[in-house]
Amino acid sequence: MAPSGEVLIAGAGPTGLLLAGDLAVAGVGCTVLERRAERSGLTRAFAVHARTLEALDARGIADHLIATGERVRRFQIFSGSRLDLSRLPGRFPFVLVTPQYETERVLEERARAAGARIERGAEVVALRQDAEGVDVDVRTGPGGVHTRRAAYLVGADGVRSTVREELGLPFPGRSAVRSVMLADVRVEGVPREALTGRGVGDAFALLASYGDGWYRLVAWNRRHQVPDSEPVDPAELREVARRVFGADLGVGETRWTSRFHSDERQAPRYRSGRVFLAGDAAHAHSPAGGLGMNTGIQDAANLGWKLAAELHGRAPDGLLDTYEDERLPVGRQVLRVSGALLRMLLLEPRPLRAVRGAAMVAATRMPPVARRMAGTVSGIDIAYPAPRGAHRLTGRRAPDVRLAGEPGRLYEALREGRFVLVAAVNDPAVTYLTFRGWAGRVRGAVATGSTGSTVLVRPDGYIAWATDETAPDRRAAEIRAALTRWCGAAAEQPSHQRWA
Ligand SMILES: Cc1cc2nc3c(=O)[nH]c(=O)nc-3n(C[C@H](O)[C@H](O)[C@H](O)COP(=O)(O)OP(=O)(O)OC[C@H]3O[C@@H](n4cnc5c(N)ncnc54)[C@H](O)[C@@H]3O)c2cc1C
Repeated sequence: MAPSGEVLIAGAGPTGLLLAGDLAVAGVGCTVLERRAERSGLTRAFAVHARTLEALDARGIADHLIATGERVRRFQIFSGSRLDLSRLPGRFPFVLVTPQYETERVLEERARAAGARIERGAEVVALRQDAEGVDVDVRTGPGGVHTRRAAYLVGADGVRSTVREELGLPFPGRSAVRSVMLADVRVEGVPREALTGRGVGDAFALLASYGDGWYRLVAWNRRHQVPDSEPVDPAELREVARRVFGADLGVGETRWTSRFHSDERQAPRYRSGRVFLAGDAAHAHSPAGGLGMNTGIQDAANLGWKLAAELHGRAPDGLLDTYEDERLPVGRQVLRVSGALLRMLLLEPRPLRAVRGAAMVAATRMPPVARRMAGTVSGIDIAYPAPRGAHRLTGRRAPDVRLAGEPGRLYEALREGRFVLVAAVNDPAVTYLTFRGWAGRVRGAVATGSTGSTVLVRPDGYIAWATDETAPDRRAAEIRAALTRWCGAAAEQPSHQRWA
């Protein structure tokens, strides 16, 4: 079969859809194969955290999504303790509460507008790979299996990933929680907080406002553990909510219910040759902290520009391997955080719960600890490992600095899907090198009001390289070397005199 420069993505969940949009914007042909014939109307994730909103901002779709939901700046995690997100750096000092289908709709619209193909009713059933590409068997109807050839395949096909199974990768872990009830409800009485959660030993509940009078209720009852197939009884929801929140927050009308269980699992590898795993296919954890969809979207943001660089022949050696190097530890950390939160919610003995409550109240009142908790849950503190001897900013999140001229912010400049070289001062080397030598691959920009380092920001908003060199000649030489490494050889070699 002829080789193809195309990327196939299994799964049109949030992970696959963000990746498809990024590849299409970067000029890479890509097709999403989705088993379901119709879009899912299921509200699983409802929390979109600050770092994910920054990723969406760098794609020009954050404000669009924010318009669909409710911003929550502070929320109760256990009785008496509140997590305050209002001091997070950046434009999004809050968590956005919006149904997952809204996030998927916004991502799908962007992907289609950029030229990605999304085929529904197309199930990946098998794969084989060789040195040049991947053959993917796709079922499109009863008995109709055909084979597609791609340069790369990404398994964004969720927790029961066929791609992961076809690679023969295990998914080790354990069951985290069973028989959790989900419902969209109205409540009698207005909760003090737009997002509030509590555990009372034999039950826990979380209530989140969509901002339109409806609330998502997540409830668990230790006294009634049943299989996922068992329907949810609104009377049980009312009883659990009363036990957890007291009489004031009675559950009223119910428009949708479901029951689920969740596991804590992670694949030992995210890459096997030309096949990658991303999102729930690579890591699954409890919904505590609302981190699953956020982590999947950020996996995709990390992988997209790397695949595009490889397919355009501009990737530095080993770039594709850095996807697993960077994202697998983040997935492990997410498992730890969501597992710890869940176990605290499930604590049963009253004395232990009292200790938990007191510890959480104390922790959330200590500013450095509270900041750290907010930075972890929101994803703002995520950073990637830097090579030995690298500048201290390497691998860190690039803050959304103001830029001189248009566009006015770094995350607006990132919308072209290119690297952005941000100079602290008006630097002829930056302007000349980026516009003449690497045009189309990197944008040069000058930060206003900053006396910091000169930094090269990756398309996913993390710092690839930085320097504090002040001598113009040496700085220009360093910049040229960094651009050559990250963005490929210059189309035109500038002479020393023209930019120094
Ligand atoms: C109750 C609940 C609440 C949650 N709350 C939050 C929250 O607030 N915040 C948060 O970040 N996360 C939350 N999550 C987790 C979140 O829903 C998932 O992490 C997220 O959906 C993962 O996205 P994904 O794209 O990786 O996988 P999925 O959304 O599972 O999408 C995978 C897609 O692949 C398709 N597919 C499967 N197999 C194949 C195949 N062989 N071929 C083709 N297509 C295939 C599926 O049909 C599906 O559309 C919650 C989960 C639950 C259950």
